[in-house]
Amino acid sequence: MTLRTDYSGALRSSDIGRTVTVCGWVARRREHGEHLAFIDVRDHTGIVQCVVDGAADLRNEYVVKITGTVRARLEGTTNQALATGEVEIGDCAIEILNAAEPPPFPIDDRIDSDESVRLRYRYLDLRRERMQKNMRVRAVINQACRNAMAEQNFVEIETPMLIASTPEGARDFVVPSRLQPGSFYVLPQSPQLFKQLCMVGGLDRYFQVARCLRDEDLRADRQFEFMQLDLEMSFADQQDVLDATARAIAAAVKSVTGEDIAEIPTMPWIEAQERFGSDKPDLRFGMELIELTEVFAGTEFNAFKAPCIKGLRVEGGAEFTRSRLDDLTDMAKRYGAKGLVWMRVTDDGLDSPVAKFLSEDEIVKLRAATEAQPGDLLLLVADERPKVRHVLGLLRVELGRTPVTEGGLHFTWIVDFPLFEGLDDDGRPVAAHHLFTMPNPDDLDKLQSDPLAVRAQSYDLVLNGWELGSGSVRIHRADVQQLVFDAVGIEAEDAQRRFGFLLDAFKYGAPPHAGFAFGLDRLVAILAGEENIREVIAFPKTQSGLDLLTGAPSPIESSQLDELRLRHLPPPS
Ligand code: ASP
Repeated sequence: MTLRTDYSGALRSSDIGRTVTVCGWVARRREHGEHLAFIDVRDHTGIVQCVVDGAADLRNEYVVKITGTVRARLEGTTNQALATGEVEIGDCAIEILNAAEPPPFPIDDRIDSDESVRLRYRYLDLRRERMQKNMRVRAVINQACRNAMAEQNFVEIETPMLIASTPEGARDFVVPSRLQPGSFYVLPQSPQLFKQLCMVGGLDRYFQVARCLRDEDLRADRQFEFMQLDLEMSFADQQDVLDATARAIAAAVKSVTGEDIAEIPTMPWIEAQERFGSDKPDLRFGMELIELTEVFAGTEFNAFKAPCIKGLRVEGGAEFTRSRLDDLTDMAKRYGAKGLVWMRVTDDGLDSPVAKFLSEDEIVKLRAATEAQPGDLLLLVADERPKVRHVLGLLRVELGRTPVTEGGLHFTWIVDFPLFEGLDDDGRPVAAHHLFTMPNPDDLDKLQSDPLAVRAQSYDLVLNGWELGSGSVRIHRADVQQLVFDAVGIEAEDAQRRFGFLLDAFKYGAPPHAGFAFGLDRLVAILAGEENIREVIAFPKTQSGLDLLTGAPSPIESSQLDELRLRHLPPPS
């Protein structure tokens, strides 16, 4: 350190008597009599109080260098809330390194500022303690992951950004080519195909802290560009990948919390769906879906004559007001249910608009199955099984919503996904993960006849209801890859045009391989106690995809358009 001797936030009683120089920003000034002022100086480590004489031209966010002597604060003026609260710097000599305009919002964690202003002036927002902490938590996690991968002999390899499309099921960002007018590069949705090519290339174990770009609607847990810890292993099976990934995850958690995580449990996809109505169950709370189909097997009540009935028991939910119940019903309908049946459990029985349609026997069995106690609320949905699970799964999340900082860290592997998640409008199966996922070998013969019954060798990692990442054992044989392309209706010619390079590579001795990728932004957000990944990204976009700081996206010069041989179409009428 040349300009300074100490960091402002690091001074303690043990420094009393030392002459120190700190550098930073003026966080606050308070006048103290005619001449004296208290100046709080802030750097990335925190704040220290400086007592200065005649500091007339010092204003907030001025950049200063202050030399003085560390001394104890006067009795009764110590500040327990501040790490440096027992000391101050006295006899100060001040050098102003730079003046500053008044900031557009207070740089103070205790004051909530409008997010659009924070993003417009992100460099000022970053000065706040919360953001300083988040950026550093992020860096520590990145480092821990890198170390964990290197320790396991993974090789860090950078894959290109200007590529042909890697399908992950999202919309591509495209980049027009100047040298090949009319042709486009695509920004990677993931390094998927390149990491598989690395395996063909004999690199054995690849990893990358990889930037991925997907043109999707933004949400609390989604940005156009995000970072993944991306890995791929040769001559490895599912368990090898889970173990290698778990080591990176454990290292990341330990780097922040100092604690070891327990072994990550595994749950089959179908179990997650049946018990939690989701493939990313939040296991911080119970409220599991209760199977009631049998209870109402012979019902006379028309609304319950459905292939599947499940319910939720909301403890203490009998207190919900009518309008809250109406809201939940509306929500269920929005999620696709025909309706939501609610029942308040009281000392006198069931209080519900549908109680009169149920037999004595059904009510007894319902109460037994749900273990409902007076004061509870039961919520029932009757429909096709996937619909019932989906709707109740979302209601469960709504009712059990837990702040990110509460409930601990509940990691789970979800395994045995179906290969296809459903059929598209043309009746073609849609890949649940991506097209390079190895079907379960026992199900290969069903690829054409019963594609939705084909299980995949794919797996997700879930943390507290967030999908942290996905991976799979890959198809390494061109003939199996062709079967999957056939099943989803990609013509041989089309496959050759889009992924010919991969299919060709597979002809030259592709080893069996498998991999995974997890989202660093999501992991960092949870470990930093943030609900929104924007808080852990230095320069994020807004919900509508704008970079308020640089003004992107913005029009380009017409000369650039000419060079690219591009022309605007009029907006659609
Ligand atoms: N490429 C996949 C993804 O980005 C991860 C993987 O299969 O390794 O979700």
